[in-house]
Amino acid sequence: MSLYRDTGVVLRVQKLGEADRIITLLSRQHGKVRAAAKGVRRTSSRFGARLEPFCHVDVQFYTGRTLDVVTQVETVDAFGTGIVGDYPRYTSACAVLETADRLTAEEGEPALRLYLLVVGALRALAGRERDPALVLDAFLLRAMAFAGWAPAVAECARCGTPGPHRSFSVPVGGAVCGGCRPAGAAKPAPDTFRMLDALQHGDWSLAESMPNTIRRESSGLVAAHLQWHLERQLRSLPLVERQRV
Ligand SMILES: [Zn+2]
Repeated sequence: MSLYRDTGVVLRVQKLGEADRIITLLSRQHGKVRAAAKGVRRTSSRFGARLEPFCHVDVQFYTGRTLDVVTQVETVDAFGTGIVGDYPRYTSACAVLETADRLTAEEGEPALRLYLLVVGALRALAGRERDPALVLDAFLLRAMAFAGWAPAVAECARCGTPGPHRSFSVPVGGAVCGGCRPAGAAKPAPDTFRMLDALQHGDWSLAESMPNTIRRESSGLVAAHLQWHLERQLRSLPLVERQRV
């Protein structure tokens, strides 16, 4: 029996049989790991409560024939305590986990940077000091950079001319100059570009000084950019599967 340890965040849990669960973990060294946790749905389970979404845990696994099996769990951070029970924080934290899950299609492919971003976002949400919507948008922008499709903000997405620019086009890749602007590009407020830049670079004092209209507009652009790329990624998956065969 081969054992290994890793630290990770529980992204998702599914029922397995009467008393067991399948845990999906984003781990520091092994990327996404799916593993069986036996007996965790019994009230007598030693580690059931430690294997809930948002938990940051240190886990020992043994390598199974089809699924690895959890043998020990220690809590590193109980982020759920500061998140569950506060609806805006809870929904932001769920979006962090779901995005991380969707950006890591391959199990066992290392995703250290994404893991660190997820831990940072959950820590900020559980700490309750920052606006959860800003924490989520900052996470999404950085997670998109991890995936290789962060929106251009300071320069034109098509020709690279330095900004500030006045238009934003999701299909082109973000900010666009007057010459590259396609028909139907959005015309966000100048402060919305400053907001996106502040969120990408962790300038919290600038981000937190922005009014609600700017926060809403930048959130809308972040969500639209994420959605567009996730849909394309999903559509390209069957092709990837076929090529591997
Ligand atoms: Zn241009």
